[in-house]
Amino acid sequence: MSTEKTPEKKSARPAQQSSSAGSRKPSSARSSQQARRARLARKRRKMMIRRIAFALALVLLIVLILVIHSCSSGKKTATVPEETETKETTREEETTEETAETPEEGKAEGEAEPQITVTPTPSVPQDLPQIDVNSWEFILANPWNSIDDYLPSVANIEGIQLDARIIPAMQNFVADTRAQGLSVVLASGYRDYGTQTWLFQRKVAQYGDEDVAATIVARPGTSEHQTGLAADITDQVYEYKNESLENTAMYQWMSQHCHEYGFIVRFPKGREDVTGIIYEPWHFRYVGVEAATYIMEHDITLEEFLSYYKDIQGPAPSESADTQENDTAENAQTAEETVTEQSSAVNDMGGVATLVP
Ligand SMILES: [Zn+2]
Repeated sequence: MSTEKTPEKKSARPAQQSSSAGSRKPSSARSSQQARRARLARKRRKMMIRRIAFALALVLLIVLILVIHSCSSGKKTATVPEETETKETTREEETTEETAETPEEGKAEGEAEPQITVTPTPSVPQDLPQIDVNSWEFILANPWNSIDDYLPSVANIEGIQLDARIIPAMQNFVADTRAQGLSVVLASGYRDYGTQTWLFQRKVAQYGDEDVAATIVARPGTSEHQTGLAADITDQVYEYKNESLENTAMYQWMSQHCHEYGFIVRFPKGREDVTGIIYEPWHFRYVGVEAATYIMEHDITLEEFLSYYKDIQGPAPSESADTQENDTAENAQTAEETVTEQSSAVNDMGGVATLVP
């Protein structure tokens, strides 16, 4: 029995020991685990706070970037749509003015008479310069007057092309503007009939209607850029052609001195009804010094100027035309060549006073 008991006791001890050891060990482990957990929880909390702070900072940064980006792109896009908007509105204006003008002028209403009188000129001004308006400098392209496939002989100047005969005048004009410390960029010059036709037909294909296309792209033969006598001038490399250009020092100087070089501001403000084109403070057109001086001093348009000569009837005396041809024999020759080439277009200028759309 005793022998049986001892093993029992013996066996009981380890059981007791193990039980006591088992109860002691977990308690210390628990406390350390709790401490660890607490530490872990603290760490996690810290991590969470850091992550949240980081995320917030990131969100703030993104918002900031977005705001800056929208501001800068807003500025950029604000100018571009303006351009197209103004173009569109003016095209609208054009068409509305075309139709609105007939009753204004007191002519027959309705579609029976689509003629537009450019200027009510009861008498020819006495101080009108004696110029042959059938000369190449006065070729007229506007929404009512097509020059068809008129093709001037062009030359390059600063990345654009112009009628070779006006290159020296443009060079002087640009050089003297730059001498004032002003920035000048020749943005656009000669555009050929083929390009204009392609641009126009592309719009026709897109909208399926020529009239709609004409509100966006000038009909072939009616863009003044096809004459080679016009250039779009800005003061920045990229084009931003809107009215704000009139505030630049470049435009201020160029618009005041252009006539000294034979150029005019072709599409002045408030004369859209006469020119058929919006106010374009970037578009300069060559007409020769004498005509340019008269046009700029009298604050008139090329259409009005030419209409005076129509009222004179018959060809105008060409005394001054001779002095213009004195430039170089070569110039005179090419001038004659193109004049005969474009005789049909020049003859069309007879229709200046009464422009038929
Ligand atoms: Zn232009």
